[in-house]
Amino acid sequence: MTRLENFISRMTAQRDILDQVCPEVAKMEGPVLELGLGNGRTYHHLRERLPGRRIVVFDRELSAHASSIPNAEDFVLGEIRETAKRFIGIDAALVHADIGTGYDDRDAVTSTWLPDLIARLLRVGGFAVSGTPLEHPLLQRLQPPPSVPADRYFVCRHV
Ligand code: SAM
Repeated sequence: MTRLENFISRMTAQRDILDQVCPEVAKMEGPVLELGLGNGRTYHHLRERLPGRRIVVFDRELSAHASSIPNAEDFVLGEIRETAKRFIGIDAALVHADIGTGYDDRDAVTSTWLPDLIARLLRVGGFAVSGTPLEHPLLQRLQPPPSVPADRYFVCRHV
């Protein structure tokens, strides 16, 4: 697979999984947490799919497209591993984490802290969607839509 094909496959998986969970999230109380704003494409998608829902967004920098900049009170600047700790217990309905790097060694480090952090941010029944695997006893892996290749992008539910 070329890097271009890999990119397209990641974008498609993000869209299809977010579209799979958003109707369930819409029925649930609790904010959405977007870990990794980047260009703001998935943030924009979530805003469209979950109108009116509070979305708290985290990144170490603000470099999104002008159309996809969160309100200042819902943007948390800094290292997610540290900044998101302040939100433990917020009972999020959805946490989306798109902070994979494409480097296995770096992503392996993220996998040492991200699953536990997400488990503490979510409400029971809440959804986690992530580009890196989420191995955790409280995060039950769900089947993504058939369009998503195995281990391309991950979707779990807090049990
Ligand atoms: N989903 C976004 C979109 O649709 O535009 C793209 C996210 S981009 C791939 C990843 C973002 O996460 C980058 O902006 C990067 O700065 C941020 N990021 C990655 N790891 C981070 C960390 N540990 N703490 C804070 N920000 C992080």
